Amino acid sequence: MRDFVYNASPARVVFAPGSRARLTDEVAALGIERALVLCTPNQSALAEAAAALLGERCVGVFDGARMHVPVEVAHKACAYATSLGADGVVALGGGSTIGLAKAIALDMGLPIVAMPTTYAGSEMTPIYGLTEGGAKRTGHDARVLPRTVVYDPELTLALPVALSIASGLNAIAHAAEGLYAHDGNPVLDLMAEEGIRALADGLPRVAVAPHDLAARSDCLYGAWLCGTVLGQAGMALHHKLCHVLGGSLDLPHAQTHAVMLPHTLAYNAPAVPEAMRRIARALGRPEAGRGLHELAKELGAPTALRDLGVTVDALDRVADLALTNPYANPRPLHRQAIVGLLARAWAGAPPE
Ligand code: NAD
Repeated sequence: MRDFVYNASPARVVFAPGSRARLTDEVAALGIERALVLCTPNQSALAEAAAALLGERCVGVFDGARMHVPVEVAHKACAYATSLGADGVVALGGGSTIGLAKAIALDMGLPIVAMPTTYAGSEMTPIYGLTEGGAKRTGHDARVLPRTVVYDPELTLALPVALSIASGLNAIAHAAEGLYAHDGNPVLDLMAEEGIRALADGLPRVAVAPHDLAARSDCLYGAWLCGTVLGQAGMALHHKLCHVLGGSLDLPHAQTHAVMLPHTLAYNAPAVPEAMRRIARALGRPEAGRGLHELAKELGAPTALRDLGVTVDALDRVADLALTNPYANPRPLHRQAIVGLLARAWAGAPPE
């Protein structure tokens, strides 16, 4: 048994189909009397429905959330929250909307109730990100961890299949890197393995029947577990590379994770055989990296960076950026090997 430190996440989690009906009770339990509901423009109907449910406890809807939380959007949302005298925020959406709620919490200290509609897992983490002048900075702050998370799988029924698959693979990435995190622990390992198992089982069912509520529930359950791991364990090469690719080339978040994960796992595999064994077991496949590559192909997920619009001449710069600011990774970072990994991911080749 290795030494470890375990901190439980203080977030309250409510999980059930139809649980959005409990939103008013959950908001009231936190003492929020003037909630501002946040969403992206294309989820405004859902947000309006939540606002109607909250009735007098809701003072407005802000439907301007955008990917990677541009600071100007965060400033606008904070100004709106201030003008309304909001005393809490309800984030209804994926990582972009929850990210905006976190920016407000960071600036104004308002409590967050999150109702996730993707599998990104941001709702379970104290990690925030803000983009300014094309550069994304991230940080940890306990104030941005949502106080209550209402998981209603019915809210994910409309998530398009392609995005569901990419988002589910994004969630698996959190758990996979958690299994070899330098600061992991046995409890997170259990969550990580169960989270991967639930998603590997649920995603193929969602792919054939997107309105299968049982499959959607399994995926959201897996996303919760994987998000919890992300919030408590330090991520390594995979998340660093995806952060660099997303930030410097403006790539879609979940799809970038889906493409990169088989390759980053294969890179780290020789250094962490036990973690790879657990990932493979959770996937129900003989090997972690190759198993994920096969799963992604079977599910029709993107498997090549070039299909996301990356040009081959961008890869050297990505490798350079990924090697700046040293961070924990189980296998030492060798530039040539990372360039090779990126080249295979660019071409959509199987991992090494
Ligand atoms: P997203 O929130 O940007 O959503 C993608 C699109 O899908 C949006 O247009 C959204 O309106 C739409 N959508 C979301 N749920 C839907 C549903 N159920 N039905 C129909 N449409 C729906 O995407 P994401 O992948 O959830 O989040 C990505 C962002 O979250 C990135 O900026 C990433 O960096 C951040 N993130 C942060 C953390 C963290 O811990 N801080 C963790 C994961 C992701």
